[in-house]
Amino acid sequence: MVGQLPKYLTGDPAAINEFIDQFDIFLFDCDGVLWSGDHLFPGTVETLELLRSRGKKIVFVTNNSTKSRADYQKKLTSLGIPSTVDEIFASAYSSAIYISRILRLPAPKNKVFVLGENGIETELKSEGIEFIGGTDPAYRRDITPEDYKGLADGSLLDENIGVVLAGLDFHINYLKYSHAYQYLARGAKFLATNIDSTLPSNHTFFPGAGSISIPLIHMTKQQPIALGKPSQAMMDAIEGKFQFDRKKACMVGDRLDTDIRFGIEGKLGGTLAVLTGVSRKEDWEAEGASVRPAYYVEKLSDLKG
Ligand SMILES: [Mg+2]
Repeated sequence: MVGQLPKYLTGDPAAINEFIDQFDIFLFDCDGVLWSGDHLFPGTVETLELLRSRGKKIVFVTNNSTKSRADYQKKLTSLGIPSTVDEIFASAYSSAIYISRILRLPAPKNKVFVLGENGIETELKSEGIEFIGGTDPAYRRDITPEDYKGLADGSLLDENIGVVLAGLDFHINYLKYSHAYQYLARGAKFLATNIDSTLPSNHTFFPGAGSISIPLIHMTKQQPIALGKPSQAMMDAIEGKFQFDRKKACMVGDRLDTDIRFGIEGKLGGTLAVLTGVSRKEDWEAEGASVRPAYYVEKLSDLKG
């Protein structure tokens, strides 16, 4: 069921004040909300500062899986946004939290086979999770006759693998897919950092993390549990870390199908859409709109009046 049309807050200080008062924690999508590409929107820093000065907790939520929280914080700093690593929740970290605090697979069958880059490895380490694959050069090569043999008889496989985690991997190849498939066929759980089909960059698109999972979905007929927006596994992971009251939380984003859906399905107290990114007012005003935010502003800095 779709809710009523959102309340428009721009230029209404009393409504903005009341809106901010309702919440203890704001979850922020980043690109299209705080910045676009490398361009920081004017007033972003002051708006975040205003929320902090009113005692609000801020969490930056991103589906980017190639970066660890520390990497992502560097990006925030380079754009001039003050932040701490603890305020950042990226899908690589979300995956690590989900594995360690929610899946809680019994040792020793709790090791992870990784398709992905360094950001994923850093976050798995931060949660004390053992893994193989990832950036290991041993997997960055062509498959050989010995590989086919050892994969078929299992002698090349690690019997403690309980999870295959697929994220954006710039060195994906046939050998890695062959290993991942064998683990899944032997019962490993299938996780994906996120299922974004594309990665916007340089004014065009490149294959996204979700595109890495597709051959495995095709082979196994299984869907992965996704740890990025709008998957509720990510919301569970965020809650697993911050322990907040969902009724006192608000999701802020520019995309209806990921950010706003994420907040609504997570039963947060509120959702705020901004018009500086992907979605347009017409998208939720349309007769058949399947997702509607509770509030919207033209741009984030409208909240500072
Ligand atoms: Mg966005």
